[in-house]
Amino acid sequence: MKASLPCPACGREFSAQAILDASDVSWPDLCWIHFTCPSCGTKTHIQVQDGQMATVDFLGAPGPEWEINTVMHVPDLTVRMDPGLAHVWLNGVHHEFKAQQ
Ligand SMILES: [Zn+2]
Repeated sequence: MKASLPCPACGREFSAQAILDASDVSWPDLCWIHFTCPSCGTKTHIQVQDGQMATVDFLGAPGPEWEINTVMHVPDLTVRMDPGLAHVWLNGVHHEFKAQQ
């Protein structure tokens, strides 16, 4: 199991902390946050769950089809999704991401 996730555009690897630091909005119903790659600026949807993060690939925008690309094991990750806000704890530190309108 990986300990980092690659940007799908440039391939640079990022830790869970780096992904949280570079993410802004969320889709709580899908457990996604929106990550902007600090290297190339590409935006990627990241699925966050208790214990793991994963990059999401879309299969033919703008359709609703998507699949998980790469999964990273993050033992100290805990998430809670509220309708308007995604809560993510990494190593006990709380991060929150407002839902995309
Ligand atoms: Zn990149």
